[in-house]
Amino acid sequence: MEIVIASNNFHKISEFKGVLEKYGVKIYSLNDLNIHVEVDETGKTFKENAFLKAEAISKLTDKVVVADDSGLEIRALDNFPGIYSARFMEGHPYSEKFVAINKMLDGKLDRYARFNSTLCVMNLKPEPLYFVGYAEGEVLKKPQGESSFGYDPIFYSYKAKKTFAELSQDEKNAVSHRGEAIKALVKYLEENNYIHEKL
Ligand code: IMP
Repeated sequence: MEIVIASNNFHKISEFKGVLEKYGVKIYSLNDLNIHVEVDETGKTFKENAFLKAEAISKLTDKVVVADDSGLEIRALDNFPGIYSARFMEGHPYSEKFVAINKMLDGKLDRYARFNSTLCVMNLKPEPLYFVGYAEGEVLKKPQGESSFGYDPIFYSYKAKKTFAELSQDEKNAVSHRGEAIKALVKYLEENNYIHEKL
């Protein structure tokens, strides 16, 4: 089976590869297929934005398309940055975003946050399919760990008891929002005989 991930985000693509290649699935990024489009994320929810990305790419390829829309929802900030996680202080390094977020949290005791990953799958069934995963944790005052993907260094995962940036890719996939959404997708693909686990 072949799947196009509607993204060129290296971290996202390798998290998909980390799970799906074990099932013999060939994963393509948009660059791999020479697809260069900017999709306006005008939706108000992760689901709407995942649909917009999947829909735009599904018109340009016959392959199965999986779009991920994801972000960090911080409870004390009314779920900000949420769907704006990528666009918040766009162009600034994440180290500056961490400082800004911590300024917003100044004086607040509640540091609970949740990552959401919503996948929209098109070109598989006549209707779009959706798979959602969550990861719960807290926002740390100072970054910890080596991984440089987004908010990973300030997200302390309750399940892993470390920040996402302190985990290997397999460890992160075992507890992350995207890992959970991908596992739900894998379950669907297995149950419908699109894929079989390799021995
Ligand atoms: P999207 O590509 O429009 O879905 O934006 C996702 C944004 O959410 C990323 O650019 C990061 O800022 C944040 N994000 C989503 N998933 C993760 C993750 O696994 N680790 C760290 N940040 C993430």
